[in-house]
Amino acid sequence: MPSSPTFVIVGAGLAGAKAAETLRAEGFGGRLLLFGDEAERPYDRPPLSKGYLRGETDRDSLYLHQDGFYATHDIELHTSTPVRSIHPAAHRLELASGERIGYDRLLLATGAAPRRLPLPGAELVGVHYLRSRRDAELVATTAARAEHVVVVGTGWIGSEAAASLRQLGREVTLLGPDTAPLARVLGPEVAGVYRDLHADHGVQLVPGSRVARFRGHRRVEAVITSDGRVFPCDLVLVGAGAIPRTELAVAAGLPVQNGVLVNDRLQVLGAAGVFAAGDVAAAWHPRYQTHLRVEHWANAFNQGPAAARSMLGIPTSYERLPSFFSDQYDLGMQYAGLGGAWDQVVFRGDPATHAFIAFWLKDQRVIAGMHANIWDAIEPIQTLIRDGRPVDPARLADPTVPMDQVAGPRSAALTAGSIQ
Ligand SMILES: Cc1cc2nc3c(=O)[nH]c(=O)nc-3n(C[C@H](O)[C@H](O)[C@H](O)COP(=O)(O)OP(=O)(O)OC[C@H]3O[C@@H](n4cnc5c(N)ncnc54)[C@H](O)[C@@H]3O)c2cc1C
Repeated sequence: MPSSPTFVIVGAGLAGAKAAETLRAEGFGGRLLLFGDEAERPYDRPPLSKGYLRGETDRDSLYLHQDGFYATHDIELHTSTPVRSIHPAAHRLELASGERIGYDRLLLATGAAPRRLPLPGAELVGVHYLRSRRDAELVATTAARAEHVVVVGTGWIGSEAAASLRQLGREVTLLGPDTAPLARVLGPEVAGVYRDLHADHGVQLVPGSRVARFRGHRRVEAVITSDGRVFPCDLVLVGAGAIPRTELAVAAGLPVQNGVLVNDRLQVLGAAGVFAAGDVAAAWHPRYQTHLRVEHWANAFNQGPAAARSMLGIPTSYERLPSFFSDQYDLGMQYAGLGGAWDQVVFRGDPATHAFIAFWLKDQRVIAGMHANIWDAIEPIQTLIRDGRPVDPARLADPTVPMDQVAGPRSAALTAGSIQ
């Protein structure tokens, strides 16, 4: 590397901003450019489906850094500046304006975009997606005039937005193919808590439903499901998942498989000097021995700095457990681990009280856990997952047993295995 190298970050979101901050904090003295295609400095997205959508959070508190931070730290932040292509072999990229820029290290932090529904009527006025601050403002403005909202999709964004819109006093219908909100991630036991929560707040839940088309003249007037049911509305919010923004990587021939493939140091495989972090990265996880793409705040928040250190040649291995948080009505939660295939769910506390812990077990080991409104529980949950020893489900369920004392008697098979 030259004595005064140039590092470029593409994507001025959470991962990109945290990477830039860390590069300077670690003493990087070269040129540092941060390109973003949005019109403003990096901001946090979680409030967009919560307080910001409800008008409770002000715009200034969304920003990740104070105005002036980037200039003070000699970070050349270029907003409204899409990067058109990258050329890893030549260590160069091209902006949409045609300007070419050489780099010594490149970080791809381009995030994800909402999955669009290519259905008849999807272009009608009043059919919205939610990713950017501007999206949130459009939804909030339309919601202020709307009476009936249909939220399509029972994942995190659909569920949170349904809660916020209901709290704003709108009539809300929440529909999707699953049996309950969040059932795909949390399974039926815990998703049942969210089903009851939304129903108690007056959301009309329509499980097992698929949208066939949107009906209306210029503006959306109804959602039609594949079984012919009609849901009149004047606002539709689609939360049908997100897809990683891998277009630059794909065009450059970088390895992409549900995200840009990187190793545990967040280096792109086979492309010297190129790194990826955040929603766009499918990173090798030493614990799980697979590539994981995690679309959650904590991942971008932590991978940005990890990628920055890796760019500087500081030995780094990203091994954090996946984790996320969500707030819906009075139920705040944090989740850690990787559910996937569990064979048992254990509750500590009564889910109906909205203050409980849920553990997902596989072969008597805790593979994931979440708390609802028990804010000091997330660290012990993570410790149990990392520890990986079999637990006694009865002790796990008992709130009087400290979480570091729930190890159970080893089953005969496990004991035999450990002796050999
Ligand atoms: C409404 C909403 C609510 C959420 N709530 C939660 C929550 O409660 N809990 C949780 O854990 N997570 C939540 N998340 C997820 C979390 O916000 C994301 O995981 C996080 O923002 C990912 O950060 P990122 O930097 O990887 O990507 P992004 O934040 O998407 O940033 C990427 C940036 O790169 C830009 N970009 C892309 N391509 C180019 C290009 N070619 N040139 C220039 N710029 C480009 C994009 O426009 C964007 O500004 C939420 C997300 C949304 C949208």
